[in-house]
Amino acid sequence: MNIRMIFVMTLLMSAFDVLAHSKMVVKSVVDGPGIYSDSGIRGPKFRDQIKEMRKVASQYPDLVRLVEYGESRRRNTLTALLFEPQNTMVTKFAVVTGAIHGNEYMNIVDRLSLALLKSPANVLREYISTGGALLVVPIVNPDGYDRRRRGNSRRVDLNRDWPNSTTPKPAQFEEPETKALADWIDSYLQQHPLTKLDLAMDYHCCVDGMLLKPWGYQKGKYLTQAEDERFEYFIEPMLKYFPKPGKVGTPPDLLYSAQGTTLDYWYAKYGAISLTYEGTRRKEKDYLQYQVLWWEDMLRNL
Ligand SMILES: [Zn+2]
Repeated sequence: MNIRMIFVMTLLMSAFDVLAHSKMVVKSVVDGPGIYSDSGIRGPKFRDQIKEMRKVASQYPDLVRLVEYGESRRRNTLTALLFEPQNTMVTKFAVVTGAIHGNEYMNIVDRLSLALLKSPANVLREYISTGGALLVVPIVNPDGYDRRRRGNSRRVDLNRDWPNSTTPKPAQFEEPETKALADWIDSYLQQHPLTKLDLAMDYHCCVDGMLLKPWGYQKGKYLTQAEDERFEYFIEPMLKYFPKPGKVGTPPDLLYSAQGTTLDYWYAKYGAISLTYEGTRRKEKDYLQYQVLWWEDMLRNL
């Protein structure tokens, strides 16, 4: 091989390198056809999300069932997966929600069910067989999700619709998407009097993997020290497993005060360990393994 050929080959190889690299970059920004989100990840249309949930429910009928808990303003069927024991009383209950802001889909909540089912540690099965129930709601706001919009079809921010102590009484929900979810959980708890809502995690995108805890609506209002210590068991695994865990704190200290969030509602109403995970732009797609480890520790703690 003469010098000129080596030179040409080197040039070609570096061109391939650039191509491969740019392809990688594109791939991490766009996953495939579908709805683009602020996370840089495209998701399937809501009707295809429902098909996926149906598939999981039919694959594991002894562990999980499809729950249709209401209708959105644009008449999408609000849909979730419910893991629950079949022959044991429910004594533990956790809820995980995503895309309450329609443009903040992260492809975590919709992959979490199968990822936990297929994880060799088998923690989800163990949790269910010892009385654990888990409601998985990948898309709380389907109308906003299908249009890549923060609010619902009336452009109402659904994460400002959850009553708190400052809401005028009688406290009520204004939007069907939030009311249906709150009502379903309330009635599930009434039907299963041995449990309360133990854990509620809401996935948003994206503020450098930040993790938010109550209280969100008032600056300077914090959990008591005892409560803070209880929360630590659920926060600590995230700090342990994630390569670059984000800051942990209250919304007013880290971002801004926010009235009417799920974060405060689940904690105030049920005393749940309530957390809001803010995700990491573009990286979140590759973080599912860490989410699974985090979830497995949280389920073990319940
Ligand atoms: Zn959000």
